[in-house]
Amino acid sequence: MKILIVEDETSIAEVVSAYAKRDGYETVIASDGLEALEIFERDEIDLILLDLMLPKLNGEEVCRRVREKSSVPIIMLTAKSGESDVVEGLDTGANDYVTKPFSPRVLMARIRAQLRPKETRDNIASGAFADGRIEIDPERVEIRKDGTPIPVTKSEFLIFSTLVSKPIRTWSREEIIRTALGDDYDGFDRTIDTYIKNLRKKLAEPGHENGWIKTVYGFGYRFDDDK
Ligand code: CA
Repeated sequence: MKILIVEDETSIAEVVSAYAKRDGYETVIASDGLEALEIFERDEIDLILLDLMLPKLNGEEVCRRVREKSSVPIIMLTAKSGESDVVEGLDTGANDYVTKPFSPRVLMARIRAQLRPKETRDNIASGAFADGRIEIDPERVEIRKDGTPIPVTKSEFLIFSTLVSKPIRTWSREEIIRTALGDDYDGFDRTIDTYIKNLRKKLAEPGHENGWIKTVYGFGYRFDDDK
């Protein structure tokens, strides 16, 4: 999962990035508001940490523009309590805010809380599958193969853990979208194929070229646990 850190103070951006990486996230840093929007357009971002006071375009404006097209979780970083009041009072569309100076550990907890699947929890698999080789950990939003975390995006995590939640069931593309992605999704049915392709690339190995995802021709996909 990838976090976009938007912060013009390099030292803060680097500390936050180091903590996030230690927790298994990928990070990308933008040092002004325009760069943030460029990166957001280009990369698949799972969460934005957004400083309020930024060069070129302030955090509030960045938040507003991102919200025009995405419901990605946004956590605002504010410099002083006065700014927090502003964020709280404004309808910025941010999901949460943290006041500087902040404890990186608290910030990481807030990030995890935002990234945890909410409404779809019942359809998310949890535990070990495929003779224990594949593990799904909804708390960390993590897929592990043989104990090693596989770097996946949030959408990839939701799709894979939905398939795994009912191993013998075949899912149509439309069902995968509705169950795994819900309201967050605004693409086409066939975009699922791209997510599946990426998941396979990340999970595949000799003997499991399909990455434990079986194509059921003319219908959709199912988790392939060799049974
Ligand atoms: Ca700043």
